[in-house]
Parts: sequence; structure tokens; C-alpha cells
Amino acid sequence: MHMQVEETTVEPVRLFRINTGSCNGCDVELAVTSAVTEFDVEQLGCRYTEDATEADVLLITGPLTVKARDEVLRLYAETPRDRITVAVGVCPVSGGVFRDSYAVDGPIERYLPVDVNVPGCPPRPQALLAGIGEALQIRQARRAGVEPVGRADGKGQEGDNFPARCRLSFDASVCVDCRMCRHVCAAGAIRFQEVEGGVRLTLWHNSCVFCGLCSHYCPTGALSVTGDWRLDHPAADAFAQVERGDIPYAPCSGCGEPIVPAAPQLLHTAFRRPTPEIDKLTALCPACRQVMSIGAPGR
Ligand code: SF4
Ligand code: SF4
Repeated sequence: MHMQVEETTVEPVRLFRINTGSCNGCDVELAVTSAVTEFDVEQLGCRYTEDATEADVLLITGPLTVKARDEVLRLYAETPRDRITVAVGVCPVSGGVFRDSYAVDGPIERYLPVDVNVPGCPPRPQALLAGIGEALQIRQARRAGVEPVGRADGKGQEGDNFPARCRLSFDASVCVDCRMCRHVCAAGAIRFQEVEGGVRLTLWHNSCVFCGLCSHYCPTGALSVTGDWRLDHPAADAFAQVERGDIPYAPCSGCGEPIVPAAPQLLHTAFRRPTPEIDKLTALCPACRQVMSIGAPGR
């Protein structure tokens, strides 16, 4: 006897995209997630839709320009109330390099709640898939009536084929507090502040565009680009996605004033083979160094 087997189909999760005034960099990367098999969102059971009213996951690109704001909010109001919102790239997350522009009204969280942040400028397709995967987990948890839990480690895959433009790592033990990194960071992602016994460097990954300039210009190698592309995270963890370290002060060997001594890496770059005299200079503050080198002022 022939039995008719009824086919069961699982409805795909629908992704809807809103561009709030981006440079299109993130949109091009999103195109990869529908045009390149290796990164196709279909592998996550998703497909793109042109209809805002059927959006299960909302992907937002761009820094939210003043001009686009009303249209963005109108479209957002059309999406279902239980959609999961993903901010794609540093622009919707923090405003990125455009954040001080008169034409920008973001970050997007000013106007609507965001569930997942995928920083990057632009984020790589791997990071986009990871971010969409994160959104699906949140959606599943909400449907089950439980509180979604973010990833514990925040780490991605080391050693894949495209090591450039990934998370930054900071080694405070070789930092000399020259602040060249902050100077070259057009994204304003690096901040210094005085703390008890030293200086703190904080690098905010939600603003970093992974240009690698800080690492390139750092004279001691204190900042380096890692192969960890996975930066997607629940939006609630926005302020946890930082690289931070305290650069300790040591007393000047002449007057006792607190200073950040020159790291051996810097001496090696500057002098190749530092002499004992040069070594002595590194433990002195600028004023004592001047006295040791050319004598006391006014003499
Ligand atoms: S991280 Fe490098 S560039 Fe930045 S302050 Fe330290 S030594 Fe200077
Ligand atoms: S890689 Fe360094 S210089 Fe470039 S945006 Fe990030 S923190 Fe700034």
C-alpha cells in the first residue's frame, strides 16, 4: 500500500534590513550573506524579506542621519513587536567616525531598543552570521519565556584566514604612555584617564573601526591586532566590549615624582643597543633627565 508522506516545512526566519544613512560598507557585507554560499543566511534557516511587517530580525546599518530619522522610525513602527533588532557595524552602535557630525542623530539606541551589537567597520561576514545567530538565540529564548543569556567568553575564532581588522589587544606592561595611539585613532576609540598609581588606557571596541593604525604606530608593540573577529554581543554588554589596562607609575630615581618609565622595547627601537647611561635616563622624570644631560637650568 502506498502511503502519502506529508511534507512538513519550517518557516524561515525573515531578516529585514534598514539603512539609516550608511556609507554602504556594511550593506555590501550583508549582501555577501545572501550572495556567497559560504556565508549565506540560509544555513541559519533565514531569508531576507522586503516587507517590514514580516520582519523577525531587523538589521540596522548606518549612523542614523537626521534626514533618514523619520523614515527609519516609520519603518521600524511597521515591524512586528517581537522582532529582534541587530545593530550592524559601529555606526548604529556608537556613531563610529561620524558620531560628531551635525548630520547624525544616532546612536540608534537613542530611538529604539537594540538586542545585539555587531561592531566592525564593516563587520566581516563571519561576524554578521555570528550576530544573526545571537539574535536567533534571543528570539528562541523569548519565545520560550526565558531570559536570553549572552555568550560567556565573547571570543571568536583565532587563526582563520583573514587575520586583519579584528579585536585589539593591549599589553600595559610595555606601554610608555606616549598616547600616539589616541592621536592616530580617527574613531576616537581610545581614552586615557588617571587612576590610582598610574594611567588607564581603555579601547572601546564598539567604536573601533579596526583600521590597525594604533597598532602600526605604537612604538613598543603594546597594542596589537588579534585574529579574533567575533565581536557580536548582546547590546546590554555594550560597555563590556573594551580592552583595558593600567600603566603603572614608578618613582623618578632623581626626585621621586611618579613617571611611566621607558619600556626596553622603546629603548631598543630608539638606540638599538642602549648603554648603562641611557638606562639610567629612563628611570628619571623629564626635569631630572635635563639636569643629568645638560646640567641644572640657569647654570
Ligand atoms: S599603547 Fe603604544 S602608542 Fe599607545 S600610549 Fe602605549 S606605547 Fe604609546
Ligand atoms: S584599530 Fe586602533 S586606531 Fe583604528 S579605530 Fe581601532 S582603536 Fe582606533
